[in-house]
Amino acid sequence: SKSEIGLLGLGTMGAALALNIADNGFDIAVYNRTARVTQDFKATAGDLAPRITATETLEDFVASLKSPRAIILMVPAGEAVDQQIAALRPLLDDNDLIIDAGNANFHDTNRRAEAAGDKPFLGIGVSGGEEGARFGPSIMGGGNKASWDRVAHILTAISAKHDGTPCATWMGEQGAGHFVKAVHNGIEYADMQMIAEVYGILRDGMGLDNAAIAAVFDRWNTGPLASYLIEISARVAEAKDTDTGRPLLDIITDAAGQKGTGRWTAIEAQHLGAPVPAIEAAVAARNLSAARDLRQTGEDIFGGAPQALNGALTVDQLEQALIAGKIICYAQGFTMISGASEQFGWNLPLPEIAKVWRAGCIIRSVMLDDMATALSEDPDKNLMFASTFAGNLKATHGALRAVVAQAALHGLAVPALSSGLAYFDTMRTHRGTANMLQGQRDYFGRHGFERLDREGKGFHGPWAN
Ligand code: NDP
Repeated sequence: SKSEIGLLGLGTMGAALALNIADNGFDIAVYNRTARVTQDFKATAGDLAPRITATETLEDFVASLKSPRAIILMVPAGEAVDQQIAALRPLLDDNDLIIDAGNANFHDTNRRAEAAGDKPFLGIGVSGGEEGARFGPSIMGGGNKASWDRVAHILTAISAKHDGTPCATWMGEQGAGHFVKAVHNGIEYADMQMIAEVYGILRDGMGLDNAAIAAVFDRWNTGPLASYLIEISARVAEAKDTDTGRPLLDIITDAAGQKGTGRWTAIEAQHLGAPVPAIEAAVAARNLSAARDLRQTGEDIFGGAPQALNGALTVDQLEQALIAGKIICYAQGFTMISGASEQFGWNLPLPEIAKVWRAGCIIRSVMLDDMATALSEDPDKNLMFASTFAGNLKATHGALRAVVAQAALHGLAVPALSSGLAYFDTMRTHRGTANMLQGQRDYFGRHGFERLDREGKGFHGPWAN
């Protein structure tokens, strides 16, 4: 009998997703460019093998699917996706659905949706890594709603569940799903960076060893900061190298990798005029981390920066600061989503986005549950101003200020936390300083300014030029 869905690309993510689909009771046909991979996949599928049809040509793959067909592509983002769409389309009927489930740039997804015309096409963001793909990812769908509805029963079945609610939602037309996934990744960068900055203060400012740092993270993981990222930070901090027995963190090189999704989010935010400075700081921090030789030169010239805090901060203050920093960083991410929603006419469902991120994805946390509630009550507000989070920030921004100030005084670099604090202070200052910028711009370029005391635009200062 024919399969309900097809999946092309049995790499890390594709293989895990295919097993997840079979595990949820759906018959699935699979195809991979390298046929040996397909055979190995079927051979190692165990109990699930009877639900899996392994195919070795695209023709057999397409022929093994129930009509109207639905095919998931799980290949590297970029050219491979265009190649596979081009190879499949001639074999498909006009109402067969292609679903790109990789990490596509949403502009590409917009373009592919446009090129597909009336032929159904979805771009879905899948978060949670291999483990998520196998046992329940968070799924952010984009494209034609009717196409989503055709496969929603499969995508919700395989998704993560938060108290029984599936973490799989249609976000909007075209590239909306891939856009939301990208912002997720940007937030992930900032969340991780803030944790790393606090780790630096615990290590260099307070002199805690790795085991003590792991214990701090474990304790925080039972409170407001409870999250997958805090949990794994504890596991990383306590881990020992299997070869040498030394603490793993002491031998991991302090130079971060990146695949570019965080950078892309920061750039897109600039295009949208919806800035995400904490995410920008996190992207910059990864870039600067890679410049190890240059940092050695700086240390040789100026002396190493970090100094002991000698009791100037408490571990509790660090927890409070991280709570404040996290709220601010998510507020930026959601503001960016609002901005895109408006500019692209997507009508993105902010509360649903917070809900979809509550389980299955890397940034899952208890705080996202409160964010979902706050955004349900008022999706247009900056999250910092929603009553729950305004209350949290009133209670914690003093600690963030103390942490940033003491870090500055003791040479401990905290770029994301300090950027978050600057954003917070900016966003609670009605009388800002851009009057000076406007004066300067009018002075050198006659750009004109508005006045507080009169209606209208295009006023000028008394410059003689
Ligand atoms: P892998 O490198 O593990 O697998 C890539 C798969 O794509 C292989 O099956 C490969 O086939 C196939 N492939 C590569 N190029 C082509 C091509 N030109 N034509 C046809 N097939 C091709 O990648 P992942 O599974 O890690 O990633 C897949 C997608 O999922 C990417 O977009 C990635 O960004 C995204 N993603 C990955 C996550 C992760 O944690 N790894 C998390 C979330 C999303 P072959 O065996 O023949 O080489």
